[in-house]
Amino acid sequence: MGSLEKYNRKRDFSRTPEPNSSKGFKGNLFVIQKHDARRLHYDFRLKIGDVLVSWAVPKGIPEGDSKHLAVHTEDHPLDYADFEGEIPEGNYGAGKVEVWDRGTYKNLKDYSIEKAHEKGLIEVELEGKKVKGRFALVNSKLGGDEKNWLLIRMKEDDG
Ligand code: MN
Repeated sequence: MGSLEKYNRKRDFSRTPEPNSSKGFKGNLFVIQKHDARRLHYDFRLKIGDVLVSWAVPKGIPEGDSKHLAVHTEDHPLDYADFEGEIPEGNYGAGKVEVWDRGTYKNLKDYSIEKAHEKGLIEVELEGKKVKGRFALVNSKLGGDEKNWLLIRMKEDDG
């Protein structure tokens, strides 16, 4: 089960418009938020259990057969999937957030998405407005850092 402890610890909810509740979404939701923080990046989030498991992807969603670094960040509440707005200066993640794409995903593994996350090998098919297709998220631990995953667009003819 995910935990919002880190998320809550990093934020002062009297100073940021970001949500701190999870009213709940049905189904396997994914969302990609464009976050114009100190460094522009895309936050890729999958609903796993009762939280949005999250990765910051500096280069955005890979096109073609490419892979992009995806840095695992703290779990976010489900309501974050609707969040757009300006996080004021002086707050964690200050800058503009917009929903870049949203939709549903299908787990392509023969074990649960929770298990896939735990193993560090997620394969999903995304059905969004902009992003459609199969992606893998692999905990490559690049440079020895546990937080470093790779977001990989899978070839159309892979298995
Ligand atoms: Mn971010």
